[in-house]
Amino acid sequence: QVPFFENGQKKKTLVILGSGWGSISLLKNLDTSLYNVVVVSPRNYFLFTPLLPSCPTGTVELRSIIEPVRSITRRAPGEVIYLEAEATNIDPVNNVVTIKQSTTVHSGHSGKDTSSSKSTVSEYSGVEEITTSLNYDYLVFGVGAQPSTFGIPGVAEHSTFLKEISDTITIRKRLMDCLEAANILPQGDEERKRLLSIVVCGGGPTGVEIAGELQDYIDQDLKRWMPEVASEVKVTLVEALPNVLNMFNHKLVEYTKQVFEDTNINLMTNTMIKKVSDKTVTAQIKKKDGSSATAEIPYGMLIWATGNAPRDITRNLTSQIEEQKNARRGLLVDDRLLVDGTNNIYALGDCTFTKYAPTAQVAFQEGIYLGSHFNKLHEIETTKYTLAKPTAADNTERLAKKLAKLQEKLPIFKYNHQGSLAYIGSERAVADLVWGGWSNVTTGGTLTFLFWRSAYIYMCLSVKNQILVSLDWFKVALFGRDCSKE
Ligand code: FAD
Ligand code: NAD
Repeated sequence: QVPFFENGQKKKTLVILGSGWGSISLLKNLDTSLYNVVVVSPRNYFLFTPLLPSCPTGTVELRSIIEPVRSITRRAPGEVIYLEAEATNIDPVNNVVTIKQSTTVHSGHSGKDTSSSKSTVSEYSGVEEITTSLNYDYLVFGVGAQPSTFGIPGVAEHSTFLKEISDTITIRKRLMDCLEAANILPQGDEERKRLLSIVVCGGGPTGVEIAGELQDYIDQDLKRWMPEVASEVKVTLVEALPNVLNMFNHKLVEYTKQVFEDTNINLMTNTMIKKVSDKTVTAQIKKKDGSSATAEIPYGMLIWATGNAPRDITRNLTSQIEEQKNARRGLLVDDRLLVDGTNNIYALGDCTFTKYAPTAQVAFQEGIYLGSHFNKLHEIETTKYTLAKPTAADNTERLAKKLAKLQEKLPIFKYNHQGSLAYIGSERAVADLVWGGWSNVTTGGTLTFLFWRSAYIYMCLSVKNQILVSLDWFKVALFGRDCSKE
């Protein structure tokens, strides 16, 4: 990458961590010719998370909702380096980020210090780790969050999350394993009942959407392939609070409850899972009279969807900065997304804790904002540089005025909430939409489902994704979904 601009000014290095909603949106809105841009992420593709719940059942294919990072960097105006690695340590004092790549492919490294890049290689259990470090002038933290378990015993060992592509493959395989294993057992057998019990923990949008998708699959497709088994599968959604989808209008919450009742999704509200073993969950049920009872719910598959927790790398950074000592749920940032206590680290999306919900919509808008912010920062830096080394042609008084104006007018981030959408199963969706500052529309049903589909097609990152997702929906309408394990 070019170290200097033609006027002699040093080109600054901008390291972007992550390839999710926030970081990719930033990348698409940044003039990458103004910085040496390095993207570091263990995932070499962008994942369109809103359609992730549709993948385990095969409503949408995995490859239809991913977009390689390189197809985005290739179209950038300036060179962008992508490194498939995860950040493992940040040194905010010396502006150094340590990154690690884990690979099962032998890289040919000797394991000794390779001097210039300061890389080290260590090997354990067939996985080779390559560790190196990068210096940065600016760092953007867009590492997202990890699924929360609230430290509940057994969750990490026995449940599956719904966060990454690999989770959808696990859910698919586990579902088919349970169905086939139950099919061998006689009707009425307790083990058969357990295997056919699918428990989803968490009545936020993730839990509601996956419960709806699974029930759709059972009603619309499994009934054709394995009718006896299909009639016995029970999907249970467990929510600690009195309602599901708490961020939606109350009418839509009631509507969702009704749809669940009509489609036989067993909704257990006021029920908090306290412990998970390999075959059952233990839950505490809060009764109307204020008393509580304990219930054991046997399960064949448990999907855990109780929201977000900070990643280790986020905790690593907060632990090093005095101003972040109260940051339990994510990095604290100012109005310009600058991490409190730093002057060159920015953060966006789910790794931050702000007044906004951790959604793709927020991360995406923050990415757009940061793209334009860095373009403006470059203009400020260039003006400062010219002021420090003026040529005969430069009017320093005018430049000083321009600099003051640029700094004074550096915009802050303003979120524009456009509403919330969620799929609730049986070709129905709920929508709380905001049009401008003046109108709210609260709607649920089949027309909303069509709107949901159109909106998500519109939001897909590329035309290729839009076509693939549309074709997937068309294929399912034509042939249905199969019951293969893969
Ligand atoms: P992410 O998109 O999660 O990206 C984080 C990136 O950081 C990833 O590329 C990851 O590989 C990378 N990374 C992780 N660790 C490291 C590390 N140590 N170093 C470097 N990189 C790292 N929101 C909506 O608004 N609408 C929806 O319909 C919706 N549906 C959803 C459905 C599901 C199933 C889920 C799980 C979430 C959904 N969300 C939705 C929420 C939305 O996906 C998140 O808010 C959004 O992904 C946050 O963007 P982000 O860039 O902060 O993080
Ligand atoms: P969430 O935080 O929205 O909901 C988690 C739910 O789990 C809460 O209702 C909580 O009360 C419940 N819970 C926690 N512990 C429990 C326990 N032990 N037993 C029973 N219930 C328990 O989480 P999410 O659904 O994963 O969503 C995460 C973020 O992603 C949110 O900001 C959400 O808005 C966003 N998202 C949006 C969409 C969409 O807009 N369609 C879809 C998915 C996710």
